[in-house]
Order: sequence, then structure tokens, then C-alpha cells
Amino acid sequence: MTKSDCIFCKIGAKEIPSSIIYEDEQVMAFKDINPSAPVHILIIPKKHIASFNDVTEDDEKLLGHIQFIASRLAADMGVAEQGYRLVSNCGKWGGQDVLHLHYHLLGGRELNWPPG
Ligand code: 5GP
Ligand code: ZN
Repeated sequence: MTKSDCIFCKIGAKEIPSSIIYEDEQVMAFKDINPSAPVHILIIPKKHIASFNDVTEDDEKLLGHIQFIASRLAADMGVAEQGYRLVSNCGKWGGQDVLHLHYHLLGGRELNWPPG
């Protein structure tokens, strides 16, 4: 289920500390260590999935759950009304550095579009 050399698996298992915002059996949300916006939360499945390239049909419910939690966290963090962004970088050209599927929840300032 978890991968021994994966930093986000370790954060999900609380082997590495993080500023946890939300947790349940399937999901962990924690503050990004290098925030790009006043609100910058990472939302991960506790199960190791390397990227969107690796999701299977079995993950459908989990992915829906993560997005549901993201909408709740946006409200809890006070960014829902002004607006925010939920993004997941996939692969090298998508800008993915950590090979454990994660969503960035960014808010608290006006965000540019398109991204670089
Ligand atoms: P990616 O570029 O893979 O989409 O995003 C990885 C994100 O993880 C980056 O925003 C980076 O700041 C964050 N990050 C990397 N290592 C850690 C860590 O050990 N703890 C926390 N909280 N965030 C991390
Ligand atoms: Zn992992």
C-alpha cells in the first residue's frame, strides 16, 4: 500500500511530520512546505499512486472523495467565495516533482492563468 522510499507515503503514515489540515482513512491534507499562495495545501491519497498515469478503475471513488474533501477544505480555509485553484501536476512536462499523486489547493490571492 505504501512505498518505503516515497516522501508522501511517509507523510501519510506520519513517519515524517507535516502541518496536517485534514485526515481520514483514505486521505491526508497538509500545508505545502514551500507555499506559492497564502493558502497552499496538498491533498494526497494515503495509498501510493505515482501519478494520474497510474490510476485504475478501482481508484474512481477515491479520486471523487479527494475532490469532495478539497471543496470542503476550500470552504474551511475561507477561500471558497473569492475562488481558488485545485491542480495536479502529472509527469515531467506537467511539473510533477513528487511521484505520489497529489492535488494542490491554492488560494488567498488572485491566481494567474494560463500557468507557465
Ligand atoms: P509537484 O511539483 O510534485 O506538483 O509538487 C510537490 C510539492 O510538494 C511542492 O509544492 C513542494 O513544496 C511540496 N513538498 C515537497 N516535499 C515536501 C515535504 O516534505 N513536506 C511538505 N509539506 N511539502 C513538500
Ligand atoms: Zn507514495
